[in-house]
Amino acid sequence: KEYGEISLKDIDHVAKNSFPLCMRHLFEKLREDHHLKHGGRMQLGLFLKGVGLKLDDALAFWKAEFSRKVGAERFDKEYAYGIRHNYGKEGKRTDYTPYSCQRIISSTPGVGDHHGCPYRHFSEENLRAALSKMGVGNRLVEDVMDKVRNRHYQLACTLTFEAVHGASCDAGINHPNQYYNDSKKILE
Ligand code: SF4
Repeated sequence: KEYGEISLKDIDHVAKNSFPLCMRHLFEKLREDHHLKHGGRMQLGLFLKGVGLKLDDALAFWKAEFSRKVGAERFDKEYAYGIRHNYGKEGKRTDYTPYSCQRIISSTPGVGDHHGCPYRHFSEENLRAALSKMGVGNRLVEDVMDKVRNRHYQLACTLTFEAVHGASCDAGINHPNQYYNDSKKILE
């Protein structure tokens, strides 16, 4: 079963319970800073499209945050295009697909960027803090850190999934939207 739609009123709840750490981090930063740089807008924007956020809702969602930082007018001028573009409504009208783990893991976030894979790109200290905030217990955090040290980032994410859902994920995590779909299957 695919989970075809997500509405704006549920989005914070769903982000907390069913987004993988990479997307949860972007989502929280957007809510906090009312802004994300290009790499973050792409990674989170396409993921949200993949979980079924409709274009109109996506525009409303991003506008509500960015308006608080740059104003509604600048949002309409500079940022709305990129969102419509992700949905295939501008430019070459390509219907862009959400990024896979592999693509995210191999990205190279710079200073001030919040995209990327936290298992790969966070400092050990920040990763530990993020995991405990997600409710991963101390012993399991050590298991996750062990995978990270061996550069098995997707296995680290799989262990996190299993810890927060109290259920196994035999297939492993290879796509943020798969993490989301598997989570919804368990939680609904
Ligand atoms: Fe996101 Fe994939 Fe990294 Fe998990 S392993 S945090 S889903 S990029």
